[in-house]
Parts: sequence; structure tokens; C-alpha cells
Amino acid sequence: DTFPGDETGDLTPRQTPGMLYSKALPTPVGRVTLLAWSDDLAAKLGIQKPADQKELDILGGNHVTDTMYPYAACYAGHQFGGWAGQLGDGRAITLGEWETPDDTSWELQLKGAGPTPYSRRADGRAVLRSSVREYLMSEAMHYLGVPTTRALSLVATGDPVLRDMFYNGNAAFEAGAIVMRAAPSFLRFGNFEILNARKETDNLRQLVDWTISRYYPHIKGEDKIVTFFKEVVERTASLVVEWQRVGFVHGVMNTDNMSILGLTIDYGPYSFLDDYDPDFTPNTTDLPGRRYAFGKQPSIAYWNLGCLAAALLPLVEKDQLLPALETYKEVYWQKYYAMMGNKLGLDRVSRLDTDLITQFEKTLSSVKPDMAIFFQLLIDLPLYMGSAQEVAEHFKESFYDELSQEQHQQLYTLIESYLDRLNKNTITRKVSQELMRKTNPRFILRNYLLHQAIEELEKGETALFEKLQKAIREPYSDKYDEFFAKRPEWATQKAGCSM
Ligand code: AMP
Ligand code: MG
Ligand code: MG
Repeated sequence: DTFPGDETGDLTPRQTPGMLYSKALPTPVGRVTLLAWSDDLAAKLGIQKPADQKELDILGGNHVTDTMYPYAACYAGHQFGGWAGQLGDGRAITLGEWETPDDTSWELQLKGAGPTPYSRRADGRAVLRSSVREYLMSEAMHYLGVPTTRALSLVATGDPVLRDMFYNGNAAFEAGAIVMRAAPSFLRFGNFEILNARKETDNLRQLVDWTISRYYPHIKGEDKIVTFFKEVVERTASLVVEWQRVGFVHGVMNTDNMSILGLTIDYGPYSFLDDYDPDFTPNTTDLPGRRYAFGKQPSIAYWNLGCLAAALLPLVEKDQLLPALETYKEVYWQKYYAMMGNKLGLDRVSRLDTDLITQFEKTLSSVKPDMAIFFQLLIDLPLYMGSAQEVAEHFKESFYDELSQEQHQQLYTLIESYLDRLNKNTITRKVSQELMRKTNPRFILRNYLLHQAIEELEKGETALFEKLQKAIREPYSDKYDEFFAKRPEWATQKAGCSM
């Protein structure tokens, strides 16, 4: 297409006014070796597994074919609530678009393939640790049924990468790695924000028109930009509901990490919840504000959509955009309650049921059981519970701490209301349990498992990494019950690291 771009190939860090992207060739690495390959995604895309070193080299940026046009996108964003100005793909390089056998088009992108004009003071590289985290988690989210960018491959580069250790302030070398990630589009809210900030209204209009015709082709007519925005609102609401369903904390919901297609994008310091704590954030740079804590994700998404709306103001009247933005609340709650109804195995969600859902949230926040384990135990709850003791016994496996008298009582009261409600279900217990089984994941890729797998990989041991690659594919089955356990004591939830 004919978007204004900087074609010089110059990788010097700089501002690129007027440009939507800059040509950026990957910087070659020492030696590309394959660590993981996603057969399913490869089949969907119609891509063969590399058969020799030359093909493998594509996955590490050492071989760029004639049909590729490697570039880095220019975007901006609001980070932690403040305007951050130009950001852009600092360590991601899109190789081009790939037409799949079923006629869809996917962007293929190398993450960690070296500097681009948007790398600012950083190196454009990624370490094994962060690359394994992105590779596994983005695929895990896909199999959980959560909209996400995907990962096709993970390669080691053979080159060491220097990183500041966030926990002791020292610098150390870590193994370099590159993920090839894939998505129909990596466009973010920030791609639109930068054009508004630079008052490049023609470019903005062109990008919006193109995004609609390409990714929202059913939207036509005079009001198409408002309709488009409304659909982004809806997709974003759906996305966050899905995160809340599985207990996923993104950790860096800056507007440069918000996908225009409603996909989970940017796997940095994310974590699943272990113990149910709405205030939990895995991001050490987000303390003490906890802006991106689990319980705040729904309202942050709304705030971010506000930034997108603001970016569209040169094209649409404010009094059209604002009501569209305001639909978020209704759409979110409607989807959220429906999802919670499924989690709880309810036939429908009435006004009274929303009170029950709130009671669940309050009680879980107080008792702080392991979220995934609690909901698994809820599926097999006996339909009669005689005492608070019996209830506590049933959920025992999910507790991190001994319960106080008050917590016992809270839990008992909750379960009494819940059993009462189950009694009124018009669906059979079996149907209700099946609904719960496909809504509540049994295997989640916990941070400590990732941590262990990465430590082993760094020593050249692949067993756990390979097992996790299998387990993520069947998160609703009991096939990988060897991992069905609370976070162990030694791994008491600390914040992760984004680099
Ligand atoms: P993130 O917090 O991961 O969304 O990153 C924010 C910005 O920093 C994006 O523009 C990234 O491309 C850039 N960035 C992060 N890590 C690196 C790196 N190692 N080298 C260059 N740019 C980076
Ligand atoms: Mg990012
Ligand atoms: Mg990142």
C-alpha cells in the first residue's frame, strides 16, 4: 500500500514526522537455532517448518527474501496515564504480510531482531527469558480461547544480550532469542494517536479508512468511523472480559499495547492470578499505584478507549464519539455478567444473579483462594453443605492461608446462596457442570512454571518447556493434573519483568 514511509533504511534512532513506518532490516545474529515451532499455527498459515539452515535463518532475521519488505511501525502512546510521545516498533520488525490458504492475511513479525529507528536508547533485542514468556503465553491464550496475537517460532540467536537486573540493579548477559509472532494486524491505538498528536489529519484519515476497509469491511456509509470506533469498544470489552474469566493480568495496558482488533498484544510482565487478589499487579514499575492491577483492567480499557476516541476527533464530531465511548460500560457489564454466569454454571443471569456475582467477588477478595483451583472445586461442589466446616473442607486445596472465623462464615454464606441459586437452574446439573468445565481453565501457565522452564532451558534442559507446550493446548482438561496445584511457597508471587 501507499502509506507515507521512510524508505532510507537508516536505523539511527529519531523522530519520523509524516511517516507511518520506517524500512528496517533485521541485524544478523551469530547462529539461529530452533527452540520451538507451533505446528498448529504453521498449518493454519500454510507455512512449512524450516528444512535447512537457510530457511531457519529467516526466523532469526539472518535471511531476508526478495518478497519481504521489513519495516518498523511508527506509533505513540499513553504510558501509565501520561503521554509518552513517539514510541514505535523498537524491537519488532514486520517482515511483510502472508496470504494464508484460507485467504486471510497475516503480518509476520520478528521480535528481538535488532534496532530500528524507534529503539530509542535500547538495543532492539530480546532475551530468552522474555521470548519464552511471549511464545508460550500467547499460544496459551489462544488455546484458552482468548483473542491474541500468536507465536510461530522461537529461536536462539547465539548472541549474549546485556540486561539490567531489575531486582539488584546489576547488569548481566543473558541468552538472546527471537520470536516470530503473527497477527492479522499489529495496529495499536497508538498508531492513530501519533497522527492526531502530529496533526497529520490526512494520514489519520487514510489509516482509519484503510483499517476499516481491511479489517472491518462490513462497515460502510457516512457514519462509518463512529461505527468502527463502537466495534473497537465492543471488541476491547470482550477482550477484557476474557482476561477476567481466566484471571490474566496484562500488566502494561499502555495505549501502545492496545490492539485495534481487540487482541491481547505485548506479553511483558503479565501473570495469571494465583490467589484471588484484585489489587495484584505483576509489574514492578507499576508500584505503588497499581494502575494495571487485575481489578482495574476493565476501567483502564475504558480510559484507553478514551484516548483512541480523542485521536479520532479530527475526523468525527465529539458528540458522536462520546456516546459511542459511553457504550463501553453497558457492553462490558452485559458481557461480564454473561461470562460470570457461565463460570458459575447458571442457566441465565437475572438482576438478582448480579448480586450473587458481586458476592462471589467480595468473598474471593477476602478469602483469596487460588482462583483456578477454587473454580475447579466449585464445579464438583456437593449440592448439600451442612456446615461452614464442610464448605471449608471442600475448598481446602485452594487456600493459601488458614481462614479466620469471619472468612469461614463469609464463604459458607456465599455457598449457601449459590446452592440456593443452583436449585433454581432450569438446566440439569450435568449441563451446568459442562458449561463450567469449558469456562474455567484447569491448567494455567503460572509464573513459577515459566520461571522453572526458563531456568532449565538456560541450562540446556528442555523437558519442562516441552511439557508446557503440550499442556497449554488443553487447558480445560485434567490431562496435565501434575500441574494442578497452588503456587508453591518458594514462588510467592513477586512481580515479573518486562524486558
Ligand atoms: P513495552 O513497554 O514493551 O510496550 O515497550 C514500550 C516501547 O519500548 C515500545 O516502543 C518498544 O518497542 C520499546 N522497547 C522495549 N524494549 C526494547 C528494546 N529492548 N529495544 C528497543 N526498544 C524497546
Ligand atoms: Mg509494547
Ligand atoms: Mg513489551
